[in-house]
Amino acid sequence: MYTLETPLETIKGIGPKLFEVLSAQGFIKLKDLLLYLPLRYSDRSEIVTISSLEVNKLVSFEAKLKSISGFYKNRRRMDTAVVEDSTGKIKLMWFNNKFISKSLKVGENYMISGKLNDRGTITQPTVEMASTDTIHTGRLVPIYSSTIDIQQGKLRRILRNTTLQLNNKAKNNIVDAIIQLHFPDDEDSIIKAREQLALEELLALIKTSEKIKLHWKNLKSASAISLSKPLIPKTIPFELTNAQKRSVKEIIEDLQSSSPMNRVLIGDVGSGKTVVAGIAARQIINAGHSVAFIAPTKILAEQHLETLTKLFPELDLVLLTGKSKLPKVKSAKPKLYIGTHAVINKIDEIKPGLIIYDEQHRFGVSQRSTNQQSKNKKSTNQKLNKGKIKSAHILTMSATPIPRSLMLTIFSHLKVSYIDELPQGRKQTKTWVIPENKREAGYEWIAQELSKTDQSIQKKMCLIVCPFIDPSNHLAFENVASTKEVYEKINEYFTSKQTNKKLSIGLLHGRIKNDEQAKIINEIYQNKIDILVTTPIIEVGVDLPTASIILIESADRFGMASLHQLRGRVGRSGQQGYCLLFSESKSATTKKRLQEFSKENNGLKLAELDLKNRGSGDIFGTTQSGFSQLKFATWTNLDLIAKAQKKYQELPKDWQSFFDIKSDTKDPKPLAN
Ligand code: ADP
Ligand code: MG
Repeated sequence: MYTLETPLETIKGIGPKLFEVLSAQGFIKLKDLLLYLPLRYSDRSEIVTISSLEVNKLVSFEAKLKSISGFYKNRRRMDTAVVEDSTGKIKLMWFNNKFISKSLKVGENYMISGKLNDRGTITQPTVEMASTDTIHTGRLVPIYSSTIDIQQGKLRRILRNTTLQLNNKAKNNIVDAIIQLHFPDDEDSIIKAREQLALEELLALIKTSEKIKLHWKNLKSASAISLSKPLIPKTIPFELTNAQKRSVKEIIEDLQSSSPMNRVLIGDVGSGKTVVAGIAARQIINAGHSVAFIAPTKILAEQHLETLTKLFPELDLVLLTGKSKLPKVKSAKPKLYIGTHAVINKIDEIKPGLIIYDEQHRFGVSQRSTNQQSKNKKSTNQKLNKGKIKSAHILTMSATPIPRSLMLTIFSHLKVSYIDELPQGRKQTKTWVIPENKREAGYEWIAQELSKTDQSIQKKMCLIVCPFIDPSNHLAFENVASTKEVYEKINEYFTSKQTNKKLSIGLLHGRIKNDEQAKIINEIYQNKIDILVTTPIIEVGVDLPTASIILIESADRFGMASLHQLRGRVGRSGQQGYCLLFSESKSATTKKRLQEFSKENNGLKLAELDLKNRGSGDIFGTTQSGFSQLKFATWTNLDLIAKAQKKYQELPKDWQSFFDIKSDTKDPKPLAN
């Protein structure tokens, strides 16, 4: 009998070699493996007789093996078998399967899954011993991602055996739901199990959030600043929107208290979060403390340096990258340190009064352990509580459109400011889905559009975005347009064209060397690039004022949220922005999804649509839930969240969740004084 804690190396079917593979991926206990859930299901649940087999339809049937023999044809191994039931006979064929003839016995009954072809045979069928409890045939069969290097069949067998041998004490309704997801009775039970697990996750999240809230409430460890005037410096060349002003006010109020701020600033792409954070940073700096501004990518960090220098010329800005050392000069003047997560490692030296995290699409989880964990946690917490050491205020910025009611419910430890209006004069980006046969016409249109001037900008640029490619990824990603290919295609197209003006085309992706990246970005800002072919590296927050058109290749590969982020890159200087979507997908659902996207400009509505459109067979179903670490819950399922909130009130105080939700913002970062 097994428990959830049983070490995987002691489980039947897992030898030392497989254990090595599993442990390398972080699978140590049985619980870890159980949470390795199927990506999708192959529906082999319809059971028929041989005479009622239909061409090209995936079904299962039980039959007796009459004969089996193997031979070589053109050096290829072939095996053929004949099976029979009371209604007829059928021929089965396998290619390159040395083991099949040894593993099957004439005279035995088997359950067989496959599709009849138009030659009247079934090639490459799945076969297993007939029984009332089949694993690979005659049911909804789980298909796992290829993250773990193990045969599907073997993984299924191991999971089946272990779940059958799970100790009764280890079982509860959550574990039962997980088992259902591996070996579902039917489609309804998949949906039911997912909902149950989503609810459990939400409960765990609420609990973590409540815990953090309690912890922070009693802290008085931050520096309360006194306000310096003017609040909004004259160097900012535009009038703040009302929503920006309100957010500034809310943040500044927090900074004037010695309770460390833990606030999220939520605003759609282009709503102007950076300037709000900058105003807060300036107040902290004027009060004598440094600020750490953390961006998700290096490109974005460099860009923040550029824009914040313009908006706040009187501040001392320092760019910190992975390798750079803190400047030695011990000038007393506090600084605004901008960088990627590497900044975190230097926090003890910087001693910021405020830490700003930009573009956190996901929160509620601990990507940020480095920030929050201290080696000697207990004593640090005690010192923090007594106010002996100082902690930083924390401001997180996000474009994830999480509704207020939701923030109050499951992120109760965070305060929220919303920027719910766009700067004046912003035009809505026009979005079109372009059929493949209009591709050239699309390119022509782009060339023309780029040559037109606009009263708001001198020069226009077009972005062409291709999905990431990771060769290690699932087969499903095989046909995705590659950045380099597209670059070459585009380059060829525009250089062969005798247009009156030659367009210059740039290539930017994460695998390009750093100095080369910097060079391209420089060229972009010097208006030397007309078309930039790139990966979603530009998705997160990059502000390219001249970007006016974005063309997205294989648009079906992106979730709505990502598409919306990408679309948010254009039209930022008040010019009309355009978004052109290309997709090779033939699926009607995909087409519908892209059409819906092209008609909707509201981030929250899109997120809801995204959720509605996902089916159980959707391989992208589990990504982009909005909270990392959460496998089931999505914040767009408001009904379930309301249910979770109600249920949470009824839980006993010592309730322990099945899920281990790590908190994102556990402790304020202690600063040695
Ligand atoms: P995001 O919220 O997506 O981070 P940014 O802070 O990058 O948006 O702002 C987008 C653009 O809008 C920037 O070029 C910024 O200078 C400009 N901007 C911000 N606030 C205003 C405003 N109130 N009026 C006009 N332009 C603004
Ligand atoms: Mg931003």
